[in-house]
Amino acid sequence: MSNPKTLISEAEIKTRVDELAAQISLDYADKGELVLVGVLKGSFIFLADLSRRLSIPRHIEFIAVSSYEHGSVRSGAVRLVMDVRRSIEGKHVLVVEDIVDTGHTLHYLIDMLRSRGPASVRTCTLLHKEHRTEVDVEIDYLGFTIGDEWVVGYGLDYDEKDRTLPYIGAIEPQD
Ligand code: 5GP
Repeated sequence: MSNPKTLISEAEIKTRVDELAAQISLDYADKGELVLVGVLKGSFIFLADLSRRLSIPRHIEFIAVSSYEHGSVRSGAVRLVMDVRRSIEGKHVLVVEDIVDTGHTLHYLIDMLRSRGPASVRTCTLLHKEHRTEVDVEIDYLGFTIGDEWVVGYGLDYDEKDRTLPYIGAIEPQD
């Protein structure tokens, strides 16, 4: 099978992650420890790179969700399958996503985390398919806006394949 065609190169990702980390470090300077909540599995590489480039105190947590499917069609309903380990009450929280597609996942996560009394909840996503939005969510830190194709690499998979590609590749247009 041939490699997916490059949509965003390794160098472009690195530059953008540096910029996001610099902005986040500035915005959260003097606010105490920032809790980074990575959404598994797709965000693990982005979170690893982003967190290492921050110049502020930070604590890493992970969360996992699954979308309900009817056949191959996602219903938009989201279910929590793994929660954070520490309380986020009174903390500044930054949700770190690989990609926002319809927005249902991030919408669910923001609501759930805000109900737990944090000091703040903001969002950071590497990719956003803005034309597929079904529910509006606030994205505070955005890497790249992309089209409707299915993307892999840098943590994102297609059926568990291509997660560890160093670049973002596009497979095929999405139906
Ligand atoms: P949403 O709830 O915003 O529709 O979907 C978000 C989730 O859908 C992402 O966290 C990711 O798991 C999955 N997803 C959506 N588009 C893509 C894509 O192009 N590639 C991959 N690997 N996952 C995607």
